[in-house]
Amino acid sequence: MPKQQVFRGNFFHAPKYGEIALLAQYLLVVDEAGIITAVLSPTAPNYVSVLAAAKTAGTLHDFGEQLVLPGFVDLHIHAPQWPQAGVALDAPLNVWLDQCTFPLEAKYRDLAFAQSVYTDLVAHLLSLGTTTAVYFATQDLAASLTLAKVAAQAGQRALVGKVAMDNPDQTPQDYRDRSSAAAVADTETFILETRQLAQDAPQGVYPVVTPRFVPSCSSATLKGLGELADKYHTYIQSHCSEGEWEHHAVQVRFGRRDAEVLANFGLLGHKAIMAHCNFLNESDAALFAKSGTAIAHCPISNAYFANGVLPVHRLKQAGVEIGLGSDISGGFSPSLYDNLKQAVISSRMLTDGVDVTRPVAERGVANSRISVAQAFYLATRGGGKAVNLPLGQFKVGQICDFQVLDPKQPANQLPGLNLFPQPLDQLAKLLYLATPANIMQVWVQGSRVK
Ligand SMILES: [Zn+2]
Repeated sequence: MPKQQVFRGNFFHAPKYGEIALLAQYLLVVDEAGIITAVLSPTAPNYVSVLAAAKTAGTLHDFGEQLVLPGFVDLHIHAPQWPQAGVALDAPLNVWLDQCTFPLEAKYRDLAFAQSVYTDLVAHLLSLGTTTAVYFATQDLAASLTLAKVAAQAGQRALVGKVAMDNPDQTPQDYRDRSSAAAVADTETFILETRQLAQDAPQGVYPVVTPRFVPSCSSATLKGLGELADKYHTYIQSHCSEGEWEHHAVQVRFGRRDAEVLANFGLLGHKAIMAHCNFLNESDAALFAKSGTAIAHCPISNAYFANGVLPVHRLKQAGVEIGLGSDISGGFSPSLYDNLKQAVISSRMLTDGVDVTRPVAERGVANSRISVAQAFYLATRGGGKAVNLPLGQFKVGQICDFQVLDPKQPANQLPGLNLFPQPLDQLAKLLYLATPANIMQVWVQGSRVK
């Protein structure tokens, strides 16, 4: 990467939740570490001189009339489940896990298989504009390290967890940690080896302490993992209060709510990301907000497995950080474009309700709608906040991750662009109608990866 690069284009971002800004023909100045050091409007006094200097130095990237969005942050992906995306979505969650998911995940002990699937998945996600991904790998240590290596080498920013799962009542005999001590020791090795790997990955590869979810872990493992996260100040991820079954199982086992159990084991905090969280009540939400724990909202997956719709609006009001997750393969689509659309659609159905035999006033949950601008924030800055990194906006000090879209690509020319020139309309068109054919370039930390 050259010492300094300059990018010119039409940049869309969400400066605040629900707000959209178009920085038309702005210049982004980016240093050799991939950090934005200046954002210049065409009326800035040094715009012309910076532009001319970059042209002379050969460090100008001019995107013309194409549209530039921040890279998307996917907060929840089960990388090993990529081959079964779209399969078995009619089964209940526990059946889906036992009959499809666990047997597939067990195959990743074959590292050649792991390498080939992970290489395909990471390339696919990058091509869809997902520049940061928070991954569950598998129970197997070596295969989990393979995922971290593949993402690091492909230039994607990755937060990766070796999955801990040792509870014999909830995990298959041939796919579980052989003991609590082994689950914790392998997690510690994973943390140390991933940190080694990170030295050659300027965009960042981070270890994540990953109890699969409370039901699949013994109490000793949950305790040991909480202690590891504290010792190494790592990220933490798990699932929390996803559906009726899980939420109830934790209540029966501990006599407490899922969020409380995670908190008691030291598994919530400002570097913790919990998937789903559909059944959080007010006190759980307060616990999340106070501890800085973020929610990975996975709206497509939730429509299949969650028995409910995440009340995004209510949880945002309670001060909880929220971003989006594809939840491959509980969700069938790896695209955050698809997931942000579904977040809007699901919120509309939550507001209006779905059973037309009930009176209008009792059918839905008032004030639950979110807008496409709000969903765009969740996919960008919301995700950045969830992982505590300066991601998701075009501002000084932010990491330079973005995707360049051409709405006029012959393979998918978006309709009515000239009739709807307002920035929000243009952005909404992109978010609703763009396909991979429109995503021309993807950059992570100032380096081109697509
Ligand atoms: Zn999940």
